[in-house]
Amino acid sequence: MTAKCERCGQTILPDETVCWQCGARLIPTPGTTDTPAADTDESGPPPISWAMLMYLGVSTAVTLLLLIWLMSLLA
Ligand SMILES: [Zn+2]
Repeated sequence: MTAKCERCGQTILPDETVCWQCGARLIPTPGTTDTPAADTDESGPPPISWAMLMYLGVSTAVTLLLLIWLMSLLA
């Protein structure tokens, strides 16, 4: 059984995952034309959520207020 690269048509060994000629990523199981959706959704790291920013901001503000309160007690 011989597989072929979808991009350049080069004959590929069945156990190869990347085409040695054009570098295209190959489907590990030849015969199926459907690409797995979970493997093609690589858009970098997820963006920082606003909830995380809000949590960090609130925790920082509370810490600063506690420090100010302690300094006012010590003064
Ligand atoms: Zn190729």
